[in-house]
Amino acid sequence: MSARSSSARKGCARDESAKEGSSSSTNANNDSVPRCDHKVPCIGNKSGTSRNPERQFYCCPYWKTEDCRFFIWLDVYEMQIRNGSWGDLLAKLIESEEMNKKLSEELLRTKEDRARMISEMSRLSNVICSLDSRIRSLMVFCGK
Ligand SMILES: [Zn+2]
Repeated sequence: MSARSSSARKGCARDESAKEGSSSSTNANNDSVPRCDHKVPCIGNKSGTSRNPERQFYCCPYWKTEDCRFFIWLDVYEMQIRNGSWGDLLAKLIESEEMNKKLSEELLRTKEDRARMISEMSRLSNVICSLDSRIRSLMVFCGK
């Protein structure tokens, strides 16, 4: 009886040594990629807009089919990784700086619009003045 059980154990040991190739530790590389709410690694892409040409970003792999708004610039993400909890703050700072830039561009455009309007108004008021003097001279001419 005892001889039979020892041979069975030997068989088991051989089976286990054959299984060594399939290890379950795979997420060593995936930590360098952000994950969205789907908990899946995001896909990298490159921006083609004029504001951010060639800037790399990550977004949800399902962005085409599902309404997942996860999006992060690669440089922002790397900063978050490098700086830990400070990274969020730095990213927000950069974001607000970009917003600031956008707003000051808009302000500049508004100022230009205002300057254009003022010059247009002064041109119109010159036209009105000359019309006014012509009307006056016409009235003087008709009155005689
Ligand atoms: Zn997603």
